[in-house]
Amino acid sequence: MREGIHPDYYQAKVTCNCGNEFVTGSTNKEIHVEICSKCHPFYTGQQKATKARGRVDQFNKRYGMDK
Ligand SMILES: [Zn+2]
Repeated sequence: MREGIHPDYYQAKVTCNCGNEFVTGSTNKEIHVEICSKCHPFYTGQQKATKARGRVDQFNKRYGMDK
C-alpha cells in the first residue's frame, strides 16, 4: 500500500465576488468563486438567470454541493 495517493481534504473557505463566505469540503484550502447561492439570480429573483444558473450548477457539481 502506498501512502499519499489520496489528496488532503480541507474545510475550504469559499469567497464569492459578492463578499459572501462559506465553508465546504474541498482538496483546496481556499476557493474563490464569482457567484454563489446568495447572489445568484435564481435565489435573488433577478433576471438574467439563465447564464448564471449554469455556472452555479457547474459550481455545485464541482464542489459536491448539490446533494
Ligand atoms: Zn455570491
